[in-house]
Amino acid sequence: MFHRNSEAAERMKRRQAAEDSAPRLSDSIPSLQTLRLNLRYRRGDIRADEATHLKIVVVPRAPSLFLIACADKECRDGGHDVTRMMMDGLHQKRATITGEDPCNGTLGSAQSPCTCVLIFEANATYG
Ligand SMILES: [Zn+2]
Repeated sequence: MFHRNSEAAERMKRRQAAEDSAPRLSDSIPSLQTLRLNLRYRRGDIRADEATHLKIVVVPRAPSLFLIACADKECRDGGHDVTRMMMDGLHQKRATITGEDPCNGTLGSAQSPCTCVLIFEANATYG
């Protein structure tokens, strides 16, 4: 049985390894020039977080992998893998890619399901 801390460290290591072994975004989508992600979260039908988080993707260095952490710090094994949705949109050279992804994690010791939903909007430019 792992400690919580080493569990988190282990997860981060796995994620790092996945990011390192993924093809570079600039190799997958050579014409992609800039990419920005606007991230929002809601919980059930309630908007959990009014703020929009802006994430600038450094295209020459970024992996072709879009893993977004869950907004809830209590959430375990949650998060959002929107790689498929993002890569489909980028392959189609869409300027705006939007989508939603529910979290599959669990909350705290009660193990109740996390109901966070990620809402993202990506803005891309191509050469
Ligand atoms: Zn979650």
